Amino acid sequence: MDKNLEILRRAVARWQSKDGPAGPALDAKDLQAVYDVSLGETGGDITELEHAINHYLDYSPDSSHPEFFKLLYSGVNEPAVLGDWVTALANATMHTYQVGPVATLMELELIRQWNALIGFKDGEGVMVSGGSQANMLGLMLARHRAAPELKNCGFATLSKPPVLVAYTSDQSHYSYQRAVNILGVGQDNLVKVASNDAGEIYPQALEEAIKADIKLGKRPFFLGLTAGTTVSGAYDDIKACSDVAKGHDVWLHIDGAWGGPALFSPTHKQLLSNSELADSFAWDAHKLMNVPITAGAILVKQSGQLKDACAGGGGEYLFHQDANAEFNLGERSIQCGRRADALKVWLSWKARGHRGFAEKIDHLQAMKARCVGLIGEHPELEMLAPAPWLNVLFRNRPAGDHSEEELAKLNQDICRRIKQDGGPYVDYARYKGRLGIRLIIANELTSEAHLQKLINLIMERQRK
Ligand SMILES: *Cc1c(COP(=O)(O)O)cnc(C)c1O
Repeated sequence: MDKNLEILRRAVARWQSKDGPAGPALDAKDLQAVYDVSLGETGGDITELEHAINHYLDYSPDSSHPEFFKLLYSGVNEPAVLGDWVTALANATMHTYQVGPVATLMELELIRQWNALIGFKDGEGVMVSGGSQANMLGLMLARHRAAPELKNCGFATLSKPPVLVAYTSDQSHYSYQRAVNILGVGQDNLVKVASNDAGEIYPQALEEAIKADIKLGKRPFFLGLTAGTTVSGAYDDIKACSDVAKGHDVWLHIDGAWGGPALFSPTHKQLLSNSELADSFAWDAHKLMNVPITAGAILVKQSGQLKDACAGGGGEYLFHQDANAEFNLGERSIQCGRRADALKVWLSWKARGHRGFAEKIDHLQAMKARCVGLIGEHPELEMLAPAPWLNVLFRNRPAGDHSEEELAKLNQDICRRIKQDGGPYVDYARYKGRLGIRLIIANELTSEAHLQKLINLIMERQRK
């Protein structure tokens, strides 16, 4: 191990000495020409392994840099990185208490804390790979409630298989499309309900869509609201949509993968008011809580439902009915071997306390407001959506008449050139037929000076 620790120390130093948020942005073919990753018959020694590690680090973008505005996570979380190393060292797995005892208790504590934030009093949950799996489990719980016979029979052998229909907004995350495919619901039975200019689902349109499907003999079973949409950071109206869902016996799930952590902040938690009305909730710890990928959770209002929907098999050799049976998290999971992601999350929460996360949210929201302020000072910059959360979606629009296509091309070019020049890492997104620059303010080390520099660069690139 000693030699490995030395390599680790050198790797950390190498990573920290990198400058530039994007790093060299090589295309795949060029990277293949620079470094050969092929494996062969004979093994290599530790020097070759370190060589590979160096290439790995040198050609990866630095997502922790304060000018990295692309992803829904950024920054450094040292307690969590430490936890990730120790997780690999002990290599526990999470199906049974016996083989991951402390990790199990830590995971249960995290679930208790997340449920308290959401307002689930008798809640349960389990950690998952991220928001996508959490959304899928939300759908699976809803399917199990609407048609429990499907767990054993599947669709094909039912005499009258129900046509189950799920609803989300047209701004919801694409993981729902993947999930309805996996669960046999089908992508044609995922209705993308229209949203307003801010990106919030129209409760009225939702009600109409559900009624129309009932008339056709279909069975609406799931509503997936979003708390913090991926592109514009919009929060759906939970109360209004909950009334619609409950009126039609539809399961209410909230995708809080990106915007859920607003609940930490007494100042900003009103973005999620009435979250306790949901039946299930997707949480991502590898986004704003910034633990190393992957770590997420599905939280459920009523205990026992996960096991009802998920459990099956494993009783002969794994899930013994002993004193710790209740602590075997594997029975509420769709995984067998599962990494002990709880440690890194627990350590970073222990280091910060609730207050530390609240302060992070408040600080990022203040930075976001400054950013929106800077954009507002510029006659040639315009916001494309309100920014209730940490997404700032705006575009450069020079004076005079320009078609949507010209503006799209200009803003795409601006992003590309800034990245090419080794500047801040920004990306663009399409929203309601327009293309804008999408900044994500997720790094606590991002200062007003970084934001000002970026705005200046955007204006310079426009002129060039
Ligand atoms: C990122 C994101 C997801 C997917 O989460 P993963 O952890 O990447 O699987 C789901 N929903 C929203 C709103 C997201 O932003």
